[in-house]
Amino acid sequence: MRLIVIGGDAAGMSAASQARRRLGPDKLEILAFERGDFTSYSACGIPYWVGGLVDGPDALIARDPAAFHRDDIQVRLRHEVTDIDLDAGTITARDLNGGGTVTEGFDELMYAAGAEPVRPPWADNPANGIFGVQTLGDGAALNAWLESSEARDAVVIGGGYIGVEMAESLISRGLRVTLVERSGQPMATVDPDMGALVADAVRGLGIELRTGVTVQALETADDRVRAVVTDAGTIPADVVVLGLGVRPNTALAEAAGLPLGHTGGLATDLRQRVTGPDGVVGHVWAAGDCTQVNHLVSGRAVHVPLGTHANKQGRVAGINIGGGYATFPGVIGTAITKICDLEVARTGLSSKEAEAAGFRYVTATVESTNRAGYFPGAVPMTVKVIAEKDTGLLLGAQIVGRAEAAKRIDAFAIAVWNRMTVTEMTALDLGYAPPFAPVWDPVLIAARKAADKI
Ligand SMILES: Cc1cc2nc3c(=O)[nH]c(=O)nc-3n(C[C@H](O)[C@H](O)[C@H](O)COP(=O)(O)OP(=O)(O)OC[C@H]3O[C@@H](n4cnc5c(N)ncnc54)[C@H](O)[C@@H]3O)c2cc1C
Repeated sequence: MRLIVIGGDAAGMSAASQARRRLGPDKLEILAFERGDFTSYSACGIPYWVGGLVDGPDALIARDPAAFHRDDIQVRLRHEVTDIDLDAGTITARDLNGGGTVTEGFDELMYAAGAEPVRPPWADNPANGIFGVQTLGDGAALNAWLESSEARDAVVIGGGYIGVEMAESLISRGLRVTLVERSGQPMATVDPDMGALVADAVRGLGIELRTGVTVQALETADDRVRAVVTDAGTIPADVVVLGLGVRPNTALAEAAGLPLGHTGGLATDLRQRVTGPDGVVGHVWAAGDCTQVNHLVSGRAVHVPLGTHANKQGRVAGINIGGGYATFPGVIGTAITKICDLEVARTGLSSKEAEAAGFRYVTATVESTNRAGYFPGAVPMTVKVIAEKDTGLLLGAQIVGRAEAAKRIDAFAIAVWNRMTVTEMTALDLGYAPPFAPVWDPVLIAARKAADKI
């Protein structure tokens, strides 16, 4: 039996490794195609590499092709799969080093091609100084430009978590940074009142934050970027970083006749088998950023491109390909990031998402501290809870704070996952000692305030 994997990062190589753990090379041949230069790399580390906090690119690679070869998993780097023939059970790949094309047969196909960055027409510009931050190659190219170009003015376009992380990394390198966001707040995945706290912190770092501003063009001269043209004026730029979001990279799958879900991602069953209107598509598996997933609170199919899900889904696919049994039930929208020392986290539904899902809800926001108020290092944190109005079911929570405040989101995540009510949460036996929390933990205070409104 032969497994072909398309995409050599989190989802694809997790699947390959798990399948190999269950079936030895005498039972299963595994061949992975990766169009880039690396396998199993952490794109999540790119902002911290650019910011000089961590080394790269080697430190950001969890397993290289040599390590996979030792497990009898063959990897073809710089090979881009250009065609899938489901009837013939073959894929065709182009050798990006100019070595022509190869066609290989499969019994099982693992589609793990990730996501592709959103690029409006104005971003399609070959001039120097314009960078995405999708791959380690992108990170290396950006670092090389920053070192060689004497760049002073940086513009980050897109105020999602990647844009905010990149703005932080560029300001920490001493550049003048402008962050441009089309909507009214950075980090639009949290409620506006929580986003306002993020905006204050971003501005407090000396980053010029321009919200409600739409980019129209990039100005270039002498083959390098010079400025970003917006509907609210022109911003000088020696370097432009694009953080405009991503969408599922499924064009290849679609061309092969695989059905796509309404988000544009591949739909799968709980075992990561690709599914369509006629049920499971035989012998084709998918995981990671190229798929849509079930949101366990809203009940909707959503596209949530995060490494945490890609690794878990890939693992589930690999166990099943290897003859075992595993399922991936879905996601609840947990995410966490930081901007210098300000931490931001969310889980479940935001107010806007709760509204869109049709919930009647209440919100409660509390200000508290990460430690007992009298303890050295106590700093403020804001916690917001969203609960169903009639039942008190916890729908979501958001935290903005410092000094490990954001990791408290995991307590809320477990509560959302287990469908707890805010009233039940008020009695949770959470750890307390003055260096770690006030006697009433901010999680409990927020739950209590929400429970009072039910
Ligand atoms: C800057 C940045 C920061 C991030 N930070 C976080 C974070 O803090 N937390 C978090 O959970 N997630 C984070 N993510 C998201 C996380 O990196 C992704 O969700 C994760 O990498 C998805 O894994 P994947 O295997 O599905 O896709 P990918 O990692 O995109 O891998 C897909 C691979 O397929 C290859 N490929 C695509 N098409 C073909 C083809 N036709 N032929 C051959 N190969 C192909 C690509 O080259 C790519 O290597 C971050 C992402 C970025 C860019």
